[in-house]
Amino acid sequence: MAKSIIEDQDRALVFYHVDFEQSVEISDGALAHFHRHRQRRICAREAGGQVFGTVTAAVVRVLEAYGPRRTDERTRTSFRSDPVAAQHDIDSCTERGLVYLGEWHTHPEPKPNASPTDLDAFTRLLGRSSLRMNTLLLLIQGTGDGGDSLSLYSGRSNEIKQWTNG
Ligand SMILES: [Zn+2]
Repeated sequence: MAKSIIEDQDRALVFYHVDFEQSVEISDGALAHFHRHRQRRICAREAGGQVFGTVTAAVVRVLEAYGPRRTDERTRTSFRSDPVAAQHDIDSCTERGLVYLGEWHTHPEPKPNASPTDLDAFTRLLGRSSLRMNTLLLLIQGTGDGGDSLSLYSGRSNEIKQWTNG
């Protein structure tokens, strides 16, 4: 039996920021993808990739998450997507009408915060002129179960802001 739309919305995680009129909704499917890659074992490497979805005046919806891929660079405390493989998924999602919204990766901590390296990499990504979106998202999944185990940052040029959920 098909799930109702209301049921799906109930399970989404919604983030807010006082400076933004839009909310950011993380779909059940994207949340499940992040959860599957949580670094629950002591030796587990970081995972990550790209997120895609839709944008309206009221809400940015993160609908799909891709990665990690076999050719990514991964350690316990770092992650870097294979840029060629990532671009392939960006192109195929764009063809399907989804918007490239930004990046995600995991951290081996319960309540994750962006590291200085993360913020540097995000700032460099924002500086790339070829991107269609002028605001991008950075999602970090920690090891916990609840909403506080997922952190969301938005970035525009070099201005990065952390959002809250719940
Ligand atoms: Zn990180």
